[in-house]
This record gives sequence, C-alpha cells and structure tokens, in this order.
Amino acid sequence: MTNSLYVSSPVNALVQGILREDKTLEQVLHRGDFGLGTFDDLDGEMVLVDGIFYQLRSDGSALIPDLSIGTPYACVTHFKPTDTIELSTQVSLLQIQKLISESLLSSNLVYAIRMVGVFSKIRARSVPKQHAYRPLVDVAGDQKEFHYENIAGQLVGFWTPDFMHSITVPGYHLHFLSEDKSHGGHLLDCIVDSGTVWLQPIDQLDLDLPHTIEYLHANLDKDVSSDLNKAEH
Ligand SMILES: [Zn+2]
Repeated sequence: MTNSLYVSSPVNALVQGILREDKTLEQVLHRGDFGLGTFDDLDGEMVLVDGIFYQLRSDGSALIPDLSIGTPYACVTHFKPTDTIELSTQVSLLQIQKLISESLLSSNLVYAIRMVGVFSKIRARSVPKQHAYRPLVDVAGDQKEFHYENIAGQLVGFWTPDFMHSITVPGYHLHFLSEDKSHGGHLLDCIVDSGTVWLQPIDQLDLDLPHTIEYLHANLDKDVSSDLNKAEH
C-alpha cells in the first residue's frame, strides 16, 4: 500500500467555481479511508474517516451520503499514523498547530492529521448547496457558522506545504466530526481540553485531472491563492 495523498481534482478548479467533477465517492474510496473535501454543488463539507464518508451540512448536521454522489474536490489517504502527540492541558487551535509544526520532520512533506479529544469550544462552518456556477470566494460569503461547547469529537485533515496551493488547500485544513457522528463542519477555531493527535507523513502525490467540459475549458493558470486563502481559512 503506497503512502500517497490522492487528490481528485486540483483545488484551483473548485476555487474558480467548477463545483462538479467526474469522480464519485465510490471511486475516491478506492484511494483512501481518511480525508476531507466537498460534494458536487458544494453540498456540505466532507469527512472520510475509517472508510466512512460523512456529509456535514450547512446547519451543522451530519449524514452518511450515498456513494454514487459526486465530488469536485476530495483529498484522501490510507491512514497509517506514525507519530502521536498527547494533549493533557487546555490548548487553543494555534497552540495545537504550533505543537504539530514543531514535531514535523520537515515542512516540505504533507501530513495527515487526526485528533480525537474533548473540546470546550468548536467554531466550524459549512456552505449551503449552490445552484449556479460561482467562484468559491463568493460562496464562502454564504457560509453558515456554528458553535459547540463541551463536545467530544475528532479533527480530520492535512497539513500541506504552501507550494502545493494550486493542487490542494495549503497549510492546516481540518474538518470536525462529533463523537456521536451527528454534527461537524470545516474547522475555524477550537479550544481542546484533552486529546491525542496522530500524524502521518506523506511523500507521494496522486492527482486526478478531470475530463468534464468545464474543467477542460477552464483557465487554471490564474493565481487564485488569495481567493483560496479567503475561502478556506
Ligand atoms: Zn474545508
């Protein structure tokens, strides 16, 4: 089994408003059991954990989607963590990121990150389903934020070097899923009371280039990193 990051379509295309591609969840599942992304028409945030997809909707509720649903952007791996960090005191998201960054072998690799813990605060968001072509930065203006307190759950995602920003979301990109699998979203901020972080360095990239008409005719040479930064962070 290779230690690679599978990306179903360059994130640049999603940032430019191509909200449907030609990959289904079933196809993505062959490339990993852990990861994140979104669904066709931006119908919620995606978490893939232990081989099960969760669709985190704009009201913060989670459901298990049908595997025939499409995704315009998914980023997955076969999760085999090699490093662990125990969090025994209350820490902020920034402090968690600092602890993770300090433990990384190199900032030029990709890392899959899973953190299971009890959160005194979670601030997350998801976007409502879109009915027309819209650049991601405009859609992000519609994002619904939600807050949870004293909730058990997990963070699922990646750390990716900035130089990969046309392929996948750079920096830390984490999605939250509650322990009872009923709520979640794209993580904006959190405070953790206690928890465990698992890290997996990844040294291969496996990128699919879609064959949809929209993708084949898009101009993907524009630098959209500032739009991506606004939309995803
Ligand atoms: Zn996200």
